[in-house]
Amino acid sequence: MATTSVLGPADLGRANRARVIRALQVHGPMSRSEVARELGIGRGSVTTIVQPLLDQGLLLELAKVPAAHGKPPRPLWFADTWQLGAVFAAPDVLVVATVSLDGQVLQRSRARFTDVDSFRTTLLTHSERLFRADTLLGIGVGSAGAVDVPTGTIMENYRIPTLNHLPLGPLLADHFGVPVYVDHHPRVQAIGDLWFGVGRDCRDFASVYTGDVLGVGLVADGRAVHGPRGGGGEIGHTVVDQHGTRCMCGQLGCWYTVASLGWLRDRARELGIARPDELTSRILAADPSDAARTLRGEYARNLALGLANLEQLLGSGTYVLHGDAAGGGDAFAALVAEEITRRIPRRGAEIRVIAAPEQDDATILGAAGLVMFRTYDAQL
Ligand SMILES: [Zn+2]
Repeated sequence: MATTSVLGPADLGRANRARVIRALQVHGPMSRSEVARELGIGRGSVTTIVQPLLDQGLLLELAKVPAAHGKPPRPLWFADTWQLGAVFAAPDVLVVATVSLDGQVLQRSRARFTDVDSFRTTLLTHSERLFRADTLLGIGVGSAGAVDVPTGTIMENYRIPTLNHLPLGPLLADHFGVPVYVDHHPRVQAIGDLWFGVGRDCRDFASVYTGDVLGVGLVADGRAVHGPRGGGGEIGHTVVDQHGTRCMCGQLGCWYTVASLGWLRDRARELGIARPDELTSRILAADPSDAARTLRGEYARNLALGLANLEQLLGSGTYVLHGDAAGGGDAFAALVAEEITRRIPRRGAEIRVIAAPEQDDATILGAAGLVMFRTYDAQL
């Protein structure tokens, strides 16, 4: 897409509609006057901006609310006639869901797959069961592995290489006849945090996924950061020890090799912790032994290695943990924050590390948010 220094009327219209949608998602139902105050524009401009959304059936006007003076307002809110399709293609698990425009997960199903054939069959079977083409606004997909965003193709998946070059976006678009947006999993998770989580009051943060994979989605000044064609976010494969162990990507000493769930379990075995193969951060958090305390400290230090590098680069200050490490809860998050703080210059601002809640829908909500984001968010 060509980059221009001015915005055409269509871009401005989309950008303004995105701002109204965003204001409603953050604050709940709002009257036109409240939207006008929030966006710093006239009430008449709000009417111009929202009319296409009302015409499309995306928004509706709720029942009149009694007012002290003047005409009783009718708050604007999301209509339930449209739904967003959301897919999370994790390394070996597929989650398919429908989400309302206001960010409620309506239905979801989850299944495992082992190769590209079972992936394709599982995806279409579960999507057909949940998606109704006549009410589907679009489908957003957060996919593991490198993704070519403009074509919606999985470029490389280290764990399940038969998925390499799968045109995931066109597969769904041809089947359901709606727009499909595919992006890299950690970035989609960050969009979930941005639209429905910490992003409600934070414009700069990193959304971290830990477990069988290690990736980070970055939000800078309220926007999800990405390289050309959706590159970037593969920070798990940045090298933290060039004499370290061999990673699945072929390099030596990637951050992933010392901060994944696999590393945690291998180290637990060395420390003599019971049932290392089933260990998770949630189990580790409840273990009062000295060995468990040692392991928690080492894991926090290793996670902080990569996060401190990010902090040095961008200075986001806020890190949201998802996946395995989130199971360690607030206590483990505080430990990681301490370790990041030890490694960075003193700027006076506190480093915040937040553990995602147990029912973590960030990627599913982000996939749904991707549809809204790409449809309405002009490149400002
Ligand atoms: Zn690697």
